[in-house]
Amino acid sequence: MPRIEIPGADAQLEAALEDVNLPTLLVTLAHLTGDDAWLAQRYAPAPIAVPEGGLFPDNTGGYEADVAAEIRAAAYDALRRLGRERPELPPPPSVGRMAQLMAFSVAEPIDEAYAAMLMEETGFVDRDDQWGRQLAGVPGAAADFHVAIVGAGMSGICMGAKLKAAGIAFTILEKNDAVGGTWYENAYPDCGVDTPNHFYSYSFARNPDWSGYFSKRDELYAYFERCTDQFGLREHIRLQTEVTAMAYDESGGRWRIDLRNVAGGAETLAANAVVSAVGQLNRPAMPDIEGIESFAGPLFHSARWRSDVDLTDRKVAVIGTGCSAVQLLPKTAAAAAKVSVFQRTPHWVSPNDDYYRPVEKGQIWALKHIPRYAEWHRARMVFAFSDRNWPAVTADPGWTHPQRTLSETNDALREALTGYIVDQLGERRDLASRCTPDFPVFGKRLIIDNNWYGTLARDNVALVTDRIERIVPDGLVTADGALHQADVIIAATGFRTNQFLWPMAVTGRSGETLDRRWGDSPRAFKGTTVPDYPNFFCLYGPNTNIVHGGSIIYQVECQVHYVMQCLALMITEGVRSMEVREAVNDAYNDEVQAISETLAWGHPGVSSWYKNSQGRVVNNSPFSLHEFWQRLHDLEPEHYALV
Ligand code: NAP
Repeated sequence: MPRIEIPGADAQLEAALEDVNLPTLLVTLAHLTGDDAWLAQRYAPAPIAVPEGGLFPDNTGGYEADVAAEIRAAAYDALRRLGRERPELPPPPSVGRMAQLMAFSVAEPIDEAYAAMLMEETGFVDRDDQWGRQLAGVPGAAADFHVAIVGAGMSGICMGAKLKAAGIAFTILEKNDAVGGTWYENAYPDCGVDTPNHFYSYSFARNPDWSGYFSKRDELYAYFERCTDQFGLREHIRLQTEVTAMAYDESGGRWRIDLRNVAGGAETLAANAVVSAVGQLNRPAMPDIEGIESFAGPLFHSARWRSDVDLTDRKVAVIGTGCSAVQLLPKTAAAAAKVSVFQRTPHWVSPNDDYYRPVEKGQIWALKHIPRYAEWHRARMVFAFSDRNWPAVTADPGWTHPQRTLSETNDALREALTGYIVDQLGERRDLASRCTPDFPVFGKRLIIDNNWYGTLARDNVALVTDRIERIVPDGLVTADGALHQADVIIAATGFRTNQFLWPMAVTGRSGETLDRRWGDSPRAFKGTTVPDYPNFFCLYGPNTNIVHGGSIIYQVECQVHYVMQCLALMITEGVRSMEVREAVNDAYNDEVQAISETLAWGHPGVSSWYKNSQGRVVNNSPFSLHEFWQRLHDLEPEHYALV
């Protein structure tokens, strides 16, 4: 067992204790010392509260100054003593102890089922052990097995890291000239994440050095580059290599993968299994507006940002008011002479006081040097930013205002966020009503406010709510006949989200292509496997996206864990073909749809990228994060036809 070491000068520790999260420090000390005096009633933190008007919780513990000072002084003495005496680092807590310490830290009951998930998210329990032991039991079984991964973004890197650890051969095929996926492609001003980074990072690759609680694109991209090196993935990645088609060959039990290689030539690969890691937000959707090709100036999508186009003193049109538009608007408006924002539907926007908050130096120091602090810190972040909003997204069947909201809780959020709009827009009452959505909060991803309303109220910004009728060489003409002049048009109009894997032609066992089978109504078992497509796995596939909170990395790690169990079964049992049973998939998807209709994003008043042309929810998970983890945790081989 390693020993507890606390490096650094006394002054460093003292300074760090000013910045740490005190409830996290207390449970860390209880873990390190085994002494429950750290959990005294006097030190009990306030519950993680949601502040008035916002949904991003106050995570501090809310101590009186004298109690906080007492905790810091006692912690200083205890940590210095531990550093001097260097006792053995205690083993991870039991699941019961995890539940007990977490319940203290967050001041809410935590049951053991939830604590079991936190044990894995913190790395206290190695989730890879489940399939690792299985593979280790049959040495050499993976020798002739090869996996092709399509995409080297967040999901592909995650999958590659686990295959590498398992000693299974794999190749990652990436169409871009770099890894990073969405964090490589999206480079618009102020692009960043809306989940705190200490949760939006792999559970197996924590990063103590995040500079902000919600980091920006360059730092995220650098993180994924670093992970690629850390897990030894470079040698497995073929950049500028685009998969054009894939077909399952039943006789050989292998996939044939057609690709365009870096030299532009056609090439074919074979693999025992394919993992699609192409994401849901990969192919930009340009608006289908009459005359778009006639525009005289630069016109580009937010995910294809033109850094060569200088917006200074130009007239700029921004189409769309989703997350991307909201993020890019303030900096665009600060540079441009005039910005016209074309809004089809207003979105709900929430304040978040920590959005631009840098991570304090002492917090970074503690994450690096106080043993076990990083684990308990992540557990608290996961708790605070995952399923706490779940009650607000579920419909109360007895609710009396089902047109506008789902329940009393959802209605209270509507009130709070509507009040926030009015507060933010002050005298611009004309804007407030046009900025207030008519669908329930969480019908679409809640957007974090980065001074959106303040920017809309600027003198050089105009909010246009009339429908765009056509684009002409010098601007956009709306249905009221007005010409909105523009030198540059930015289409922040989202992605082709209902056509998973488009434009690849993926042909299954019976010769049907996936786009034909699915149309715009994709269905997969646990968002991962598809009947008639053996040995084929989708990460971030149908019905896996999250809206109410949480990190998409969490979802993908759950899926990768599931896929690894499938591959371990195939390899150790000599399974040539693994195909989910049609009836199992149907029953699962019936359940998914039935639940989706009772959730905020299934509300009939919501029109969004989550739904297909018939209003069926195809992108979002109908489960809380904890339930998703449970459902993907243990492979049940009877769900599959194994040959
Ligand atoms: P989006 O949410 O699909 O928003 C697209 C916007 O363009 C919507 O306002 C849409 O209006 C509008 N639009 C689309 N076609 C149009 C047309 N023909 N005419 C006029 N308006 C049109 O796309 P996004 O903002 O890129 O975000 C996509 C997803 O990416 C988000 O939901 C989120 O999951 C993720 N994202 C996250 C972050 C973050 O973490 N901070 C940042 C960016 C993106 P309607 O609303 O009426 O459809």
